[in-house]
Parts: sequence; structure tokens; C-alpha cells
Amino acid sequence: MKALCWHGKGDIRCDSVPDPQIEDDRDVIIKMSACAICGSDLHLMDGYIPFMEKGDILGHEFMGEVVDVGRGNSKLKVGDRVVVPFTICCGECSQCRRGNWSVCERSNRKVENATKAFGYPTAGLFGYSHLTGAYAGGQAEYVRVPYADVSPIIIPNGISDEQALFLGDIFPTGWMAAANCEIEPTDIVAIWGCGPVGQFCIKSAFMQGAARVIAIDNVPERLALAAAAGAEIINFDQIDGTIPDHIKDMTAGHGADKCIDAVGAESHATASFDAIIDKVKAATLLGTDRPHVLRTAIMACRPGGIVSVPGVYGGFLDKIPFGAAMNKGLTIRTGQTHVNRYSLDLLRRIEEGEIDPSFIITHRATLEQGPELYETFRDKKDNCIKVVLTA
Ligand code: NAD
Ligand code: ZN
Ligand code: ZN
Repeated sequence: MKALCWHGKGDIRCDSVPDPQIEDDRDVIIKMSACAICGSDLHLMDGYIPFMEKGDILGHEFMGEVVDVGRGNSKLKVGDRVVVPFTICCGECSQCRRGNWSVCERSNRKVENATKAFGYPTAGLFGYSHLTGAYAGGQAEYVRVPYADVSPIIIPNGISDEQALFLGDIFPTGWMAAANCEIEPTDIVAIWGCGPVGQFCIKSAFMQGAARVIAIDNVPERLALAAAAGAEIINFDQIDGTIPDHIKDMTAGHGADKCIDAVGAESHATASFDAIIDKVKAATLLGTDRPHVLRTAIMACRPGGIVSVPGVYGGFLDKIPFGAAMNKGLTIRTGQTHVNRYSLDLLRRIEEGEIDPSFIITHRATLEQGPELYETFRDKKDNCIKVVLTA
């Protein structure tokens, strides 16, 4: 079959690889009908996530039709149309039972790597390195889905692939980022990053009752989409002074009640985990001259507020103003998304017409065109906001 594979920093290829097979009774195999490229894939492409290996199959936002079912799986049958959440969950461990799905204790097959990096194992993720289980991803014609009696979301007829696909990651990710803010009706929510995740943070913040949303980026078409959703926008290339001061000015000195970092790592981790400490010293700035988003968000948050971090970090991040966080009594929440907590509720909202997640798609292409589309998405060429690939 064809699959998008990682061959090193900036080197993604559409390869011919063996078809996956059922390996466990609970598995299913799905024939991919649509998959997407995520900002998290860009961290892999840019070489910021440790423990990638040449030939790893990428992709964690995918859906398709069930074509083979393990003997022990009574949830799914051949022909079911499913979206597969990016987090792999056993459904039985103490974290899964608590609803902390993205830190499932049993689904990561590379416990030693995760433990080295994070102190404890975290859940397996599709297409996301040998830090998170070394599972083949969904940017491929066929995908093996382990523990497939737990998380896959059966999609009813009448909901298109493009409406359903983002239930597996970026819609619940934006939703959880907003939910972590415990939004109250008077809240002003500041959101850094107007990429796909930031856009779902904006929609979710309003759906959860925010009074105002301030969205920050420097890509005009992404800011325009944020404005269309009702956000007030800051183009950080076009303001004088600091972003926290600017937010104060926009809020009569009040500041942002809640802040969301929907940007995450850019230059803050490294492919070689042992070299992270050295890199961290040089990684205090985002890009070349901008203060890092998480630091800015902590400084911009009003006392007693919440900083929510859906942005992905692979290693360490230096010079966090923890004094400001501590003395202002901030709450900081983060994590890979517990997709299963939200997926059925969000599916219902799509079915009821409350939101159509396909608003985010700007580019449609085939798997073979994937390597080129990775570059288009990374470099924000051609007004690209979200790419969907079909087999
Ligand atoms: P993206 O790369 O398309 O979007 C990031 C946006 O941030 C871009 O529009 C970019 O212009 C903007 N940006 C860069 N520097 C900025 C700065 N200093 N201030 C404000 N904006 C800035 O990626 P995406 O798909 O939207 O994903 C965003 C983040 O969410 C990534 O880190 C991704 O890994 C993460 N993510 C997390 C989860 C989770 O489970 N927590 C799930 C999916 C994605
Ligand atoms: Zn993703
Ligand atoms: Zn589990």
C-alpha cells in the first residue's frame, strides 16, 4: 500500500509499504477514506520530537471503513465507517477508567522511551514516534487500529467525511483547551495561534460562553478566519509594544481572564533527547526574535486566571516566568487531548448543525501529493490552513 513516511528532518515521502495485518483480537483494519495533516505532524517534520525512525508511517487524523475485524472485537463490524481518535486507549487501566484517556498506562509499547522523557509512560499515539508507542499512522491506505473496541467513533450516514474527520483530534483538542479554561460568561479569552487548533479553540470558547475572544497570529488569512468567527485579532507583526500590554489596552487594563497557547513547540526540542539540555539554552526564543508564546501567555493572564496549553511540546522549555504564575495564582492546564471524553458530544453537535468542522479545510489532495502538501501547510503557502488527503 501507499503511505507517507518520515525519512528525516524535512524529508517526507510517499512509499510503498506492506499492508497492515490484524495482530491482536481487539484490532481492526480500516481502509482510509480521508486523513489530515496536523500541526503536530509539523513538529515531526521539523525534527523536534525525539525517537523518530526512518520509514515511520505518519498521520494521526484519519477515518475510513472497517475492512477486517479481530475475533475479540464485538464493537465494530466490516463496513462500519469510523473516525479513529489519535490517542490509543486500552479502556481498562486506572487512567482510562478515570477518563484520562491520553495517558493510558497500557497502550504505549515503548514505555522505556516515554519514561526516560517524561518520568512515566504516556498513551500510544498513531504515527507519532517511538516515544509514543511506534504505531504506524493513518496517512496510509490501510491502518491497523489497536484496542479498536474502545475509541473509534462510528459515523452515521448523512455526516460527510469532511464534517466528521476532525472529531479524531483538532475539534476535541480545541474543545478541551477551552474546557480547561472553565469559561465564565464575562470571560475574555486570549488565544495564541490561529492554525487549525487555534480556530477550534476560538469556536469552542464562544460555544462554551466566552464574552470575548482575542486571537493572535501573524498570518493574514488565518487572522481573517478568526475574525469571521467573531474574534478580535492581533497581528503581532503590526503592533507597537508587547502583546500583554496590547491585550491590557484592549480590555481597559483588565487583561485576559484565560489564555490558550495553541502554538506549542517550534525550536524547543530536538531529535536527540540527550542533546536537549544544550539546545534548551539556545531555545529561549520562538523563531528568531519573538518571545515564546507560553511565556507571553503567562505574563498576559490576569491574576487568578487560567493558562491552557494544547500546544505540543516534545522536550524542555526554558525561562518560564514561574514567579508570575505563582504570585498571580494562575492555574496551568495542558495535555494531549482526552478525545474520548468529548467525541460523542461533539458528534451530536455536528449532527444537530451547531458546527460544521469542515470550515477549516483549504486544501484537498491525494496521498501521493502528501509530501508537497506538508510543505504547503508548513510554509502557509497558497493561504493553506488545513489539508485533507484521500487515498
Ligand atoms: P499550525 O502550525 O498550523 O498553527 C500554529 C499557528 O501558530 C500558525 O498559524 C502560526 O502562524 C502561529 N504562530 C507561530 N508563532 C506564533 C506566535 N509567536 N504567536 C502567535 N501565533 C504564532 O498548527 P495547528 O495544527 O494549529 O496546531 C497547533 C498546536 O497544537 C501544535 O503545537 C500542535 O502540535 C498542537 N496540537 C495539540 C494537540 C493536543 O492533543 N494537545 C492536538 C493537535 C495539535
Ligand atoms: Zn493532530
Ligand atoms: Zn488504558
